[in-house]
Amino acid sequence: MTVNNQSLFEEKSFWLRSYGDYTPNPSFAGETQADVVIIGGGFTGLNTAWQFKQDNPNARVIVLESAVIGFGASGRNGGFNMKLFGIDPEMTVLRWGKQRMVDAHHYMQKAVSHLKTMVEEHELQSDYQHTGMFRISYSKQQLKRVEETYQLFQKLGIDDDMRWYTQDALQQEFNSERFLGGMYESETGILNPCKQVRELKLLALSAGVEIYEMSPVTGIDRNGSHIVTHTAEGKISADKIVLATNAYSRHINGARKLKNKQIPLWTYQIVTEQLTQEQWKSIGWEQQQSFEDNRQLVHYFRPTVDGRITMGGGDVLAPGNECMDKDFSPKIWQQCEDHLKWIYPQLKNVRVDYRWGGPVSVNLDMTPEIGFLDDERMIYAAGCIGHGVSLTHLNGRTIADLLNGDKTELTDFWIVNRKAIPLPGDTLSYLGGKTLHAGLKLWDWWDERGLKKS
Ligand SMILES: Cc1cc2nc3c(=O)[nH]c(=O)nc-3n(C[C@H](O)[C@H](O)[C@H](O)COP(=O)(O)OP(=O)(O)OC[C@H]3O[C@@H](n4cnc5c(N)ncnc54)[C@H](O)[C@@H]3O)c2cc1C
Repeated sequence: MTVNNQSLFEEKSFWLRSYGDYTPNPSFAGETQADVVIIGGGFTGLNTAWQFKQDNPNARVIVLESAVIGFGASGRNGGFNMKLFGIDPEMTVLRWGKQRMVDAHHYMQKAVSHLKTMVEEHELQSDYQHTGMFRISYSKQQLKRVEETYQLFQKLGIDDDMRWYTQDALQQEFNSERFLGGMYESETGILNPCKQVRELKLLALSAGVEIYEMSPVTGIDRNGSHIVTHTAEGKISADKIVLATNAYSRHINGARKLKNKQIPLWTYQIVTEQLTQEQWKSIGWEQQQSFEDNRQLVHYFRPTVDGRITMGGGDVLAPGNECMDKDFSPKIWQQCEDHLKWIYPQLKNVRVDYRWGGPVSVNLDMTPEIGFLDDERMIYAAGCIGHGVSLTHLNGRTIADLLNGDKTELTDFWIVNRKAIPLPGDTLSYLGGKTLHAGLKLWDWWDERGLKKS
């Protein structure tokens, strides 16, 4: 995939579009050597590059990005800096047990504060606000489930920043009749993801990392003690490489074992026009917190610094595994808009200004993983699903530790080199995905069957 026309990447999200003029770094050409090559210029790739270069100022570190920095999920997401790990806490306990859930929560706590501290220390201009987040419910069934989630956090002793909100208390915050109750976590934040990823680019460049954009990697070869990374116009021979290509990882020639580790899933987002002061007043929401519902196919909502609401989620698309251009779904965008206006009939005449979508990386057990491919010279990360903003920032530190060959508290985290179950063949993955998707939709329909959607 090559992007050399600004409009082709600008249209990929509201954040990319509203960023303004952006001049990508030149593409890579020629033959050279490096200590580490990192493929992918999103949060994972840039955090890894920056951390490793800081540890090893004399090392030559090269990042290759096929399009522009932030072209993937990192430039398109909701910008929630949050602690949610995997698909949900109940599934993590069921699959991995209580202790691993607690360990995962601590990793995510660290991830959220790591990102926040980075923004503060390096004065990253990404509109970061540490405003907290609600998980709310619309139906009695959903309310019961979110109560159980809250109790689970209490039982595990990891509820330190959490508080329960009754329907009345929620009404004070949000002025929507649809919310029956929910939980609040204060230690979360929101940011502008495109600004964040491009601030990371500047941070990495200032540390001496070399970044090439519009440089799709076309293949990887193992050549004796070196790994050779090929682009259309050159090749780089390196000691180690990192595959930070997230949902795009199936398309990297030469990383065959990465193919059955994850598939892309497409999720969609919209942003409204700027709301007037009267409109903001009519919906409450004065503290600018973010919120998610607790449907199976979750929706999420947050304000932007220029006075809009952006929301997304709900239905998803899992097209054929080879297809990477599904960031367009008028049907799901309309469902998002209808849902927003169902929550807030006060906004029924508000215009939606921008709509987009992006791929997340999904593996079989919906649990993130970091690992070696074949041997310790090739490292990959996968399975962040829609919860990767904070995670990928801390994963960058963890991967840098692995590149250094160090054993640290981070590399001891159980997702590192865990035995992940490979996906079955393409047809089975496709059919399994379809069945799961239909099941989740049915579940939401059942939970919400009494609610009037107008
Ligand atoms: C719509 C949407 C909303 C989301 N909302 C949230 C949220 O609010 N909170 C949250 O925690 N998570 C959210 N996520 C998930 C989060 O955005 C991702 O987990 C995270 O950004 C992944 O970062 P990454 O660097 O691993 O991958 P990416 O940002 O996808 O980066 C991978 C990069 O690799 C590049 N690449 C691909 N192939 C090649 C190649 N051959 N050669 C060179 N480069 C290549 C791509 O162009 C891309 O830039 C959301 C995702 C989406 C799509």
